Amino acid sequence: MRIAVLALQGAFREHEEMLSRLDVSSFEVRQTGDLSAPFDGLILPGGESTVQGKLLRETGLFGPLRERIAAGLPVFGTCAGLILLAEEIENEAVRHLALMKIRAVRNAYGRQLGSFFTEGAFDGGASVPMTFIRAPYIAAAGEGVRVLSVTDGRITAARQRNMLVTAFHPELNDDLTVHRYFLEMVREAKAAAAGNAAAV
Ligand code: GLN
Repeated sequence: MRIAVLALQGAFREHEEMLSRLDVSSFEVRQTGDLSAPFDGLILPGGESTVQGKLLRETGLFGPLRERIAAGLPVFGTCAGLILLAEEIENEAVRHLALMKIRAVRNAYGRQLGSFFTEGAFDGGASVPMTFIRAPYIAAAGEGVRVLSVTDGRITAARQRNMLVTAFHPELNDDLTVHRYFLEMVREAKAAAAGNAAAV
């Protein structure tokens, strides 16, 4: 298994470290040429979604990545990555990949609570540490979106088919639960693809 980590800006190294702790190899994506070797999943890290959206367009990565995600490539967007994937952004004119049926609100916790730490259930399981940094939240989730975490009454993790998003940063804490969950999505997608190939 090989995971691509978008490395245009933001907290991509921390994701690579989480993957290496799980014995999964990863590589950094900065230009379209980086997409030539096969890979099984993609991480869109936290950072600044406006900058990342601009760089995605300038590098030409926007189209190929959007196409692959739309075709079923498993993707995990944290924080800014959640905003990149959202079909709607409440307080922003520009949308980006716009593939996931969620309405995101940027910088939703305001200035005073710009960054904070809490713990909460993920996918109905045990509590996981959650670090929020000028984080968005999900104001509305459309059909086919499964809510995985709610923090102070707001949706902070969700999944729609091959797309997983968290408003918090699991890569900034020690707990591997969310990365394990993503890798399970990747394994399922790989198994399904192998099944389809065998059926042809
Ligand atoms: N506030 C950032 C944005 O709007 C997201 C913050 C983050 O990724 N930590 O893009």
